[in-house]
Amino acid sequence: MTSIQQKGISSERISQSTSVNVDDLECSICRDLLWKPVACQKCETPFCSTCMNRWLANRTITCPTCCNTYIERKCPPFVTKVLSHLQIICFYQANGCQEILPYEALDKHEIECGYQFAKCPGCQLEMLKKDFVTHKKSCELVPMTCRDCKLMYKRNEATTKHTEKICLRKQLKRLKHEYKESRGAIQKLNIELREIRHLYSSIKQTVITFEDLPSAAKNLLHMPNVYKGFRWTKISYMHELLAIKKYSKSGYVSSFLPGDSLHVAFFGETATISIEPPNETFSLVSIMACAAWNDDLELTITAYRKSIEVNQHSVILLFGRPQRIMLQWKNIDKVVFKPFGGTAHPGCDEGPGAHVSLTQLTIDDLSLSSSDFLTFD
Ligand SMILES: [Zn+2]
Ligand SMILES: [Zn+2]
Ligand SMILES: [Zn+2]
Ligand SMILES: [Zn+2]
Ligand SMILES: [Zn+2]
Repeated sequence: MTSIQQKGISSERISQSTSVNVDDLECSICRDLLWKPVACQKCETPFCSTCMNRWLANRTITCPTCCNTYIERKCPPFVTKVLSHLQIICFYQANGCQEILPYEALDKHEIECGYQFAKCPGCQLEMLKKDFVTHKKSCELVPMTCRDCKLMYKRNEATTKHTEKICLRKQLKRLKHEYKESRGAIQKLNIELREIRHLYSSIKQTVITFEDLPSAAKNLLHMPNVYKGFRWTKISYMHELLAIKKYSKSGYVSSFLPGDSLHVAFFGETATISIEPPNETFSLVSIMACAAWNDDLELTITAYRKSIEVNQHSVILLFGRPQRIMLQWKNIDKVVFKPFGGTAHPGCDEGPGAHVSLTQLTIDDLSLSSSDFLTFD
């Protein structure tokens, strides 16, 4: 907000109590007391800033006093200093304001002075600003906004346009709208979460191939107790060279895929993989396995969470040809493999029977469960 003064301050408004000679403080355009003065850089004559702006807009670009091109500078400090000693009567004295203020404080007071006129936005009546507060409380036409339903109405419309029923209906409508919006937002978030999860899981998948285990080229070896974050029970592994040398007729030989790991894991009885530490969970994406000695060997894979069975899948394995078994089991902590049945593959009659060659396990490290999704009810 800017000052209401459109030009200098008339000399009658200078309070009698001040003993300052004001003759030198006159604006040479409006002939009143300088108000927010600026000065000509050349001749240093001060003018009211409003007077000067009007002068420059209407006439030329020259100073009204020295006739040189007007370049503005700050009002000389001695003028500002004398002005600051003046006491000025409020512009709204005629309306009843009794304030007499230091020159510097005048602007702020006059912007806020309660004795200026204000127009009621409802009934359009002009009144003193200080009276408007009381008027507003009773004016029938003043626009009001309901805090609950946000409806705008005039006071005299309260019984027609803003009844309790209307207010409640409006609130209900707003709530429904908000509900819809947040519901939409949540659905969007869930979709994003799913996408992120999908992206992330493809990055975070670990494929266990047994490649980096100590070489089992000379002897069959037991899996280390803990390997790749899992505890392996009743599972051993062998090197391709050992398979060729000692079990040349078995399906092990062909279960080494070209360019893949030189180790395969195997088991001939119920075997277990559980996460370490046990309170964690993991996702089993898939495994690759085949039968080592039998045709029609059945493998039952069971997943547990806190000792409760959560998934199960049975599959007939191929002899010597690893197949990928897709599982996509999430949020589990233990997997049990149980080989069963089948008949000896031709030439494998002397083999140990229901043995499984496990060539790969694909693990998803990110254990995002369904409870990570926001539900809405
Ligand atoms: Zn002036
Ligand atoms: Zn000048
Ligand atoms: Zn006042
Ligand atoms: Zn009014
Ligand atoms: Zn309302």
